[in-house]
Amino acid sequence: MKELEERIRREGTVKPGNVLKVDAFLNHQCDVELFDHMGAAWAEHFRGKTINKILTIEASGIGIACCASRHFGNVPVVFAKKAQSINLDGDQYVTTIYSFTKQREFPVIVAKKFLSPGDHVLLIDDFLANGKALQGLIEICNHAGAVVEGIGIAVEKGFQNGGEQLRKAGYDLDSLAIVKSMNPETGDIEFA
Ligand code: 5GP
Repeated sequence: MKELEERIRREGTVKPGNVLKVDAFLNHQCDVELFDHMGAAWAEHFRGKTINKILTIEASGIGIACCASRHFGNVPVVFAKKAQSINLDGDQYVTTIYSFTKQREFPVIVAKKFLSPGDHVLLIDDFLANGKALQGLIEICNHAGAVVEGIGIAVEKGFQNGGEQLRKAGYDLDSLAIVKSMNPETGDIEFA
């Protein structure tokens, strides 16, 4: 998606440790018009698929997933929580994932009442690096008996192996921008 690539080029910064910072429009300040265009692009890619729910993970997935829902008939958006809370009651699907940016493990939790056998789910997230976050969401869908119809990603870092693993496993993965390489010294970002 050219618009997203241009924004990354213009406003993204490359940090040490293979981290791309895009807080000006995706991870802190949110460009809702861009989010809307991203939702339209996923709707185009996944046209013809039956999708009755979008599953994402807090926090940065929520905004893009909600904008995407408007292009999928306003299907409910469920976001996995990363911490237990007194507001989380009832039975839960729980797994553990390793966070690339926080460099620690944390739980991923979805209340059972919001994900059921027979749900046809689109997974959405902001970044795909090593694929741990998505593996957690897929595991939760498998526990629930829900079908993963596809995966929509804003920015895939193609030099890390999450995307390759998911495509090999047969998932329909649509990444709107695939970063081929990025250089923390020069700030250069190359797209696939
Ligand atoms: P993975 O689980 O695929 O290794 O990493 C994906 C998760 O880590 C995403 O949910 C995202 O929040 C975070 N992440 C991974 N790489 C980056 C990055 O380069 N920049 C930002 N802002 N987040 C990232």
